[in-house]
Amino acid sequence: MSSTLTDRLETPLDYAALPADALVERIRARKEELNAVILGHNYQRVEIQEVSDYLGDSLGLSQEAADTEADVIVFCGVHFMAETAKVLSPEKTVLMPDLRAGCPMADFVTGDALRRLQAQHPGAATVAYVNSTAEVKALSDICCTSSNAVRVVESIPEDRTILFVPDRNLAAYAAEQTGRENIVAWDGYCYVHDDMVLEELAAARRAHPEAKVVVHPEARADLLEQADIVTSTAGMVDIAEREEAVIFGTERGLVDRMKKRFPLKTFVPLSGAAICGNMKMNTLAKLAWCLDHRQHEVTLDPSVQEGAARALQRMLDLSGGWTPPSEEEARLEAAGLRSSGCGCA
Ligand code: SF4
Repeated sequence: MSSTLTDRLETPLDYAALPADALVERIRARKEELNAVILGHNYQRVEIQEVSDYLGDSLGLSQEAADTEADVIVFCGVHFMAETAKVLSPEKTVLMPDLRAGCPMADFVTGDALRRLQAQHPGAATVAYVNSTAEVKALSDICCTSSNAVRVVESIPEDRTILFVPDRNLAAYAAEQTGRENIVAWDGYCYVHDDMVLEELAAARRAHPEAKVVVHPEARADLLEQADIVTSTAGMVDIAEREEAVIFGTERGLVDRMKKRFPLKTFVPLSGAAICGNMKMNTLAKLAWCLDHRQHEVTLDPSVQEGAARALQRMLDLSGGWTPPSEEEARLEAAGLRSSGCGCA
């Protein structure tokens, strides 16, 4: 271990003054010392991905971390993701490099607000998209991802009202796909996907008339109507593997990874502005500070932990459980070239 490792600096700003290779050395050494694993979400900065032990989506990463012997999990993502890691590994210490890295969509609905909605609809079933806080998951009957939202809605008896939180666009997509009229959608959204507009789609089509337009269901209905295919990021990766030209309606981190993997194919973002700033709040300096100071620890009330685990497990039972990536998928994911994810989650 480098001698500099014995000297903890005070603030993340002090760490930011160190050169990148010194930060990487410090991160790797401290990680060993703490018996920690670093989880890097697909939308993280490249330098964070490079020091991560696992790359992927929030649920897959949390499940992979739960299967390790690590004592400490450092989640480089946003707050609800670190909570999910804690839900699945209650005995491990879960840390986040920047506590302010939240997901605006998850923050649209609080536990109190959901309780009020549930009081207005006695007997309704609550479906929580995995991009939600642990408290909201714990108050819900079942979770869903963008890949299985339709299947989850179909699993609920037709005469039962469904409260769908927090993404209004995914709720509208599930309602349209299932023909359900009794879905009460929370008025939340992901600003990255909701901000994509028809004019951008039309411009991308004009520039690349040969390309398939694939759009994530977190986008608005008018955009989904104009798409050739509506699918999760996992579905987008499959499409990238078989198509020569694709316009991607999702966070552009996915497009950059696909371009790296298939440099000769025509892959373009539907919107150049589709970037999640919250995901990019984690830096090497904050990660080094986080490991040195064992901060910021994410803790959960045991009842929240238990309730969120139940809602997640119901979803996994319905979907046939979580399947670890194949050897080839794991190799591509480790190289940052494939995502098994479904949206951020
Ligand atoms: S991309 Fe959207 S859903 Fe994902 S973390 Fe950012 S704001 Fe939240």
